Amino acid sequence: MIPAAVEHVRPETLDEALDALTDPEAKALAGGQSLLPVMKLRIVRPSVLVDIGRLGLGGVQLGDNELRLGALATWDTLESAPELKRPSLAALAGCAAEIGDLQVRNRGTLGGSLAHADPASDMPAVVLALGAEVVVRDARAERKLSAEKFFLGPFTTALAPGELITEVVFPLVEGSGSAYAKVEHPASGFALAGAAAHVTPDGKRSVAVTGVGAHPFLLPADADPLDALTEAEIYGDRFAPTEYRRHLAGVVVRRALDRARENMEKAA
Ligand SMILES: Cc1cc2nc3c(=O)[nH]c(=O)nc-3n(C[C@H](O)[C@H](O)[C@H](O)COP(=O)(O)OP(=O)(O)OC[C@H]3O[C@@H](n4cnc5c(N)ncnc54)[C@H](O)[C@@H]3O)c2cc1C
Repeated sequence: MIPAAVEHVRPETLDEALDALTDPEAKALAGGQSLLPVMKLRIVRPSVLVDIGRLGLGGVQLGDNELRLGALATWDTLESAPELKRPSLAALAGCAAEIGDLQVRNRGTLGGSLAHADPASDMPAVVLALGAEVVVRDARAERKLSAEKFFLGPFTTALAPGELITEVVFPLVEGSGSAYAKVEHPASGFALAGAAAHVTPDGKRSVAVTGVGAHPFLLPADADPLDALTEAEIYGDRFAPTEYRRHLAGVVVRRALDRARENMEKAA
C-alpha cells in the first residue's frame, strides 16, 4: 500500500519543529517504523510530516547521578553505547538488542516507541522499571512526566497535542542490577509477554510488564511480583489466551528478576 500524499518538512531546530507541530493534523516523524505502516494502511493521514531527524536529539549522556537518552537514540545506539555497558543499565541494552530486526534497530527510536505506545512494545517496561522521567516540550513550555504516568492505554499516552518527547532521564542507583526478558510473538517479534526488573543493594525491586495489558505497567512494589500477577488484569487473544499469557508473564518476570540479581552481583 502507498500512503496518501503528504507534505514533508525537515526543520533544523527544535523551535521550528515545535512550531510546525502546532498544526493539529501534523505528525512527528522519527524512525518511521511504526508511523509509515499505519500511514500506508491509511489509518493515520497527517497533513504534514515533521521530520525530527535533524534536531540533534539522539545523544547518550551519562552523568554522576543520571543517564539522559535523547528521544532519537536508536535501538542500535542503545545496544552498542559504551555508557550503557554497566549492570544497573543492562536492561536498556538487552531490551534494545531484542527489538525487531537489524533494519528496525537501525531506524527505530526510543522516543518514537514511547510515543507510539504499542501495548506490546518492549522498551516501555524498561523505562518503567528503571523509574525514568519522560521530558516533553511544546512550543510554549517543557514538562517532565514520570514513566508511570505516561502510558494511559493502547496507543495512548499523556502527551498533549503538539508535544514532542525530547529526552528520557534515568536515575542511577549505585550497585544495582537490571534486566529485560521476553517471550516474543514468533511472527512479529513483539512481546507476548515481556518484563523488566531492577534490583538494588538495599533489597528494593521494581518490576514492570508489557504485552499483557492495555499498556505496560509496574507491579506493586509491596507485593510479591508473582502474587501480583495473579491479581492483574491480563489481556488475552487467539495467540495467547489470558491464562496462558499470565503464565508467560510469570516466566518472564522470574527470568528478568534472576538476571537482574546476577547483574547486581557483577556490580558488587
Ligand atoms: C518489522 C518490525 C518489527 C518490530 N518489532 C518490534 C519489537 O519486537 N519490539 C518493539 O518494541 N517494537 C518493534 N517494532 C516497532 C519499532 O520499535 C519502532 O521503531 C517504534 O515503535 C517506533 O519508533 P520510530 O522511531 O520508528 O517512530 P515513528 O514510526 O517515526 O513514530 C511513531 C509515532 O510516534 C510519534 N513520535 C515519534 N517520535 C516522537 C517524539 N520524539 N515525540 C513525540 N512523538 C513522537 C510519531 O508522530 C508517531 O505517531 C517493530 C517495527 C517493525 C516495522
